[in-house]
Amino acid sequence: MIPIAKPLMGDEEKEAIIAVLESGMLAQGPKVEEFERAFAAMCGVRHAVATSSGTTALHLALLAHGIGPGDEVITSPFTFIASANSILFVGARPVFVDIDESSYNIDPTLIEARITSRTKALMPVHLFGNPCDMEAIMDIAARHGLVVIEDAAQAHGASINGKKVGSFGAGCFSFYPTKNITTAEGGMVTTDDDQVAEKVRLLRNHGMKRRYYHDFLGYNFRMTDLQAALGLAQLAKLEDFNEKRIANARYLTEHLRDVIITPQVKGGHRHVFHQYTIRVNEKRDWMVEQLRERGIGTGIYYPLPVHKQPVYQELGYTDHLPVAEAMSRKVLSLPVHPALSQAELDRIVETVVQLYKGERD
Ligand SMILES: *Cc1c(COP(=O)(O)O)cnc(C)c1O
Repeated sequence: MIPIAKPLMGDEEKEAIIAVLESGMLAQGPKVEEFERAFAAMCGVRHAVATSSGTTALHLALLAHGIGPGDEVITSPFTFIASANSILFVGARPVFVDIDESSYNIDPTLIEARITSRTKALMPVHLFGNPCDMEAIMDIAARHGLVVIEDAAQAHGASINGKKVGSFGAGCFSFYPTKNITTAEGGMVTTDDDQVAEKVRLLRNHGMKRRYYHDFLGYNFRMTDLQAALGLAQLAKLEDFNEKRIANARYLTEHLRDVIITPQVKGGHRHVFHQYTIRVNEKRDWMVEQLRERGIGTGIYYPLPVHKQPVYQELGYTDHLPVAEAMSRKVLSLPVHPALSQAELDRIVETVVQLYKGERD
């Protein structure tokens, strides 16, 4: 079976983990600081603050910007549920704006109609590793005085004209095992704002500046040195991993674009292909089944848009967001991860072409 995702662990990762085990310093310590400095440098920002997950990174980024009850945050309905849930965690209200069908990202032309006096922030999600239209989004944010919190959980190293995602507003990253680099579980907040960085640092550690004095309600959302050591070894390989993902995606597109709708990449955008997502219309579920029978793992990101999830239905969301709803029935992600061999890529291409043309072997 060709898996849809596969974390790549080498001797560097194993040695780094053993060194931490032998150091006796397991929880948040010097490795976390080193990982934060290296990640900030990769992103081109002043600060990176490590957290326990991408979800807690989003949660703390919102809190550190003072977003809470009575506030609205505009985000995409076509994302992993953590994006919107983090808004609920701080007591604010997620407001969903439909996506653009060529990028699967939030459609900036629809944002302004949903801005109210309660809107405090925009949370674009760089879905599948493809940067959102940040020029338009930053322009809207500036005109309306809004904070921008980028959900970059799938987009480590993605950029627009060389400027990395996570450096436009505050960035939130995840290091879950399926992501472009992993720490098993882990997250990162990136920012150029000294005060926001300091607030995230305190919030992740019980609001504690001086040992056992707690200035405000904080959390234990810390990363461990074990995870950070893994993260440092992975970060050193990020460029290489992303280049392989991009090359794999190019190969798939070259061979599939005549039969199906392949991913679109805007000029100047560096899409880092966390997922390679095609659109297969009414044949989608049949394709998933057929590909599985032929040993090819696939993923559906996402089968139900966030506003249609039971949690949100329960909260009374009645939005009709036609593009997100249609895409949830049509998209299918194929393996694109850096561990794929040429033979596996060829097998994926041949199988998809054969199935799409309806030729049963
Ligand atoms: C993975 C992911 C998250 C959450 O990250 P975790 O580390 O799993 O908590 C948030 N948003 C998006 C878009 C993601 O893909």
